[in-house]
Amino acid sequence: MNIRAETLRTLHRLHRQLSDVRDRLARGPKQIAAGQAAVAHCEEQLKQAKDAHLKARVNADRKQLQLREREARVADLKVKLNQASSNREYQALKEQIAADEQANRVLEDEILEALEQIDLLAGKVREAQDLLARSKAELEKTIRRVDEEKVVCEAELVRLTQELHQTEALLPADFLAEYQRVVNARGENALAPLNNRYCGNCNCALTPQAVQQVLLEKPVFCRSCGALLYLPEP
Ligand SMILES: [Zn+2]
Repeated sequence: MNIRAETLRTLHRLHRQLSDVRDRLARGPKQIAAGQAAVAHCEEQLKQAKDAHLKARVNADRKQLQLREREARVADLKVKLNQASSNREYQALKEQIAADEQANRVLEDEILEALEQIDLLAGKVREAQDLLARSKAELEKTIRRVDEEKVVCEAELVRLTQELHQTEALLPADFLAEYQRVVNARGENALAPLNNRYCGNCNCALTPQAVQQVLLEKPVFCRSCGALLYLPEP
């Protein structure tokens, strides 16, 4: 039984190309999943930025309300000061007013700081919105590219499979089962070129008899990795 080296070379090329096309097809959904994960991450970042912004606004509102209440209290105390009936009461009210006004100045500073914080956090919300928009656009682009590539790859798969069947038809009929077994088990590594006297797949040395058989275009399997060996292009 002879098998032309050219047939085996073509078969190996086709198995490698098929495996490459299948890899490319499998990569697409992974790239889309990665893009979706990026969008989800950006959505989460935006949610956190919005939450922080809202919290800062609630905080500033609360402080402003507190300030208005305290200012009203100071105004009340000033009325009472005018109506004070004793010097002692007058002094106590004056001290209370001074303390409250001091506390209000501190609160005013805190409000200014809180307003600055709100501006800063609003900026972060806009940044997060931009990032989300960009990651969504990127995902759309990836989906389109993967879809286009899928069409190309599927056509390629059909073409290569046809060529594979045509080439397999050149194998001796009583060798087909053995060939199919090694292909099923090893995929693109089912075949290997003879590299001097080594297996081109696993690099194991072959016996001189095995090398001789390959040169005579007889079916020889590597004893180490099981690959069907063939003569490389001269
Ligand atoms: Zn080997």
